[in-house]
Parts: sequence; structure tokens; C-alpha cells
Amino acid sequence: MKVYVMIGAPGAGKGTQADILAERLGLVHVASGDLFRDAVRNDTALGREARRYMERGALVPDPVVIGMIEERLSRPDAAAGIILDGFPRTRPQAEALDAALERRGSRVDAALYVGVPEDELVKRLSGRWLCRASGHVYNEATHPPLVAGVCDADGSELYQRDDDRPETVRARLEQQLPPMYEVIDHYTTRGSLVAVDGAQPVETVTEALLRAIAHPARPGRSEAA
Ligand code: AMP
Repeated sequence: MKVYVMIGAPGAGKGTQADILAERLGLVHVASGDLFRDAVRNDTALGREARRYMERGALVPDPVVIGMIEERLSRPDAAAGIILDGFPRTRPQAEALDAALERRGSRVDAALYVGVPEDELVKRLSGRWLCRASGHVYNEATHPPLVAGVCDADGSELYQRDDDRPETVRARLEQQLPPMYEVIDHYTTRGSLVAVDGAQPVETVTEALLRAIAHPARPGRSEAA
């Protein structure tokens, strides 16, 4: 079972890249944020719990997230290989993932970090619009839809996420960046971190990620770890 982990701040483009990589590599794309948003929409116990944190831009407590991801890993479609997007977001989550994969005789093949400067993240998140039908992502400044409020790909309505409001954007970055750096440290220590510059065009970032996955023995990554 191939396992890749996407790491990046909110707005870094990790969801976009995870979608593309999943398609190109034949992996299942699992986004923890999407699982939570589905649970909120369906008003499940998990959704009601998660919503209290999501509204504030805070992280959902580790045991809740870990339980949800372990359940997802155990579904049959995950056996083909998986790209995790938005998980792990803290060091305990990364450790729990290592343990869960070890029990399955597997491990994280590479942790893919998409780095983007903070000013750029705020700009991207505040202008972000998503389509209702399948989550296609647009940006007022950098990638507007052809017709305002309508998805180019499927014609569905575009909306802004509640937590993309400017106040919540700042809270999300403040609360979520420090633990993200711990996750980066976790994978650096294990020699599985790949860092790419996420401030480049989408296709350039994808190519850099695919190159890194195809040629794991590169400078800056210790294969011995
Ligand atoms: P995202 O779509 O990845 O930005 O996630 C939306 C929200 O879901 C986050 O702001 C958190 O409140 C929550 N969330 C998603 N993934 C995690 C995680 N791995 N750990 C804790 N909270 C999470």
C-alpha cells in the first residue's frame, strides 16, 4: 500500500495537488477537511463535535481525527494506495499514523510539503471560491471563473467556505502553522520529507512533486533514516 502525505498551510494548494497526484498515480485522495465537512453536512455526532472547532479555525482534537482516519484507512479502496491531504496536522497525529500503518505492514512513502509564504496564503484564502458540485477551486485574483459565481467545469454554483473569512483565515494560520512545523520536523527526522516551492504555477508544482516521488534519492533527503 503506497501512502503519501500532503503537508501545507491552509491555502498552499495541497488539495489541488493531491487531486492531481491521486489521478495521475491511481491513488485514493482522502482529505480530512472534506470528511469533517461531510459529517457536518450530515449532522452526525462527529460533525457536531468537529463543527465547534472548525468554526473558530481551531484544530479538531487529535483522538477524534485519528479515529476518523483509522476508520478510513480500513476501507477496502484504501488498499490500492492513498494520498492523505490535511492529515497529519500535529505530531501526535503523525505518530498515530505511523503506528496504524505499521500494523498494516506499511509506512509513509513520502511526505510532500508544499511551502507558500504567509502573505500569499492570506491573499489566496480570502479570495477562494469553491463549486458546490465537486469542490473545484477558483481564486478572485489568480484564477477567476469565466462567469462570476459559476463553475467553469460543471456549471454549479460557487461559494466561499465559512472559515475563509479574513478573521478566521488569520486564526487558522496562527493556530495551525506551529503544529505543522512539528509535522515537517517529524518527517524530516525520518528522511521522508520532500519540500517543493508552492508559490509556482500549479503545473510546475505538480511536476516537481512527481519528479520527487519518482526519484526518491535526492539531496536533502536521507534514505538511510
Ligand atoms: P481543511 O479543509 O483541511 O482546511 O480543514 C478544515 C478544518 O477541519 C480545519 O480548519 C480543522 O478545523 C479541521 N481539520 C481538518 N483536518 C484536521 C486535522 N488533521 N486535525 C485537526 N483538525 C483538522
